[in-house]
Amino acid sequence: MSDVLFEIKDLEVSYGSIAAIKGISLEVRKGEIVTILGANGAGKTTTMRTISQLLKAKSGSINFKGQELTKLAAHKIVKLGISHSPEGRRVFGILTVEENLMLGAFTQKKMDRDVLEWVYKLFPRLKERRKQLAGTLSGGEQQMLAIGRALMSKPELLLLDEPSLGIAPILVKEIFKEIKEISKSGVTVLLVEQNAKAALKLADRGYVLDVGKIALSGTSAELLASEKVQEAYLGKK
Ligand code: ATP
Repeated sequence: MSDVLFEIKDLEVSYGSIAAIKGISLEVRKGEIVTILGANGAGKTTTMRTISQLLKAKSGSINFKGQELTKLAAHKIVKLGISHSPEGRRVFGILTVEENLMLGAFTQKKMDRDVLEWVYKLFPRLKERRKQLAGTLSGGEQQMLAIGRALMSKPELLLLDEPSLGIAPILVKEIFKEIKEISKSGVTVLLVEQNAKAALKLADRGYVLDVGKIALSGTSAELLASEKVQEAYLGKK
């Protein structure tokens, strides 16, 4: 397929003797929003952490722009152009909003003020609260900060792990709207979600992960229409 930016082939990941990812393959083309759906424990976070090399693969390959990632250290991944907004947000609570954003630019020789202003334009709440300690932000605001921080390294591929987790529906809407904006600006997005409906409305294509294996894949329209997806993830019978 043309314009493949990122590709996983036959990936296996284990925690000790427990196999969490059992041979998955997927691809993301330049400019796409691709979502990985799945229930609790399906292996979504494990996949994201393995892409970022925070976990090491047991076997298989992960390729970004022709470069094999599985043998690289985690800090190299960011330099190559992949940035990760982790599940649970993990902002630095005792630092201000702006200090957290500046940390996101650690791979740059000098922080790019234009990127900072872009992040503030995407999430005006972060600009309003730029001097506030991140630990005192609401869950939704912390999620915006985690995404903003990931953007500060000017990624080509943005990994978003459950941006809707534990967040009020109104903020979920706002965050998903901004993910669309991020995508329109040319950043390719791989989005892990339990909120299948919101994710499929936003994404071009999706993969359904079920206990470490890809159970289904297709365009968002195909997955939304699939009986299996409707029963298991959209609460319809
Ligand atoms: P959730 O939506 O609940 O975060 P997930 O799809 O992201 O779920 P993972 O967190 O990737 O799932 O977990 C996949 C499997 O690996 C689960 O069975 C989980 O119990 C197991 N697992 C995750 N982290 C560890 C760990 N540190 N040690 C052992 N097993 C783990």
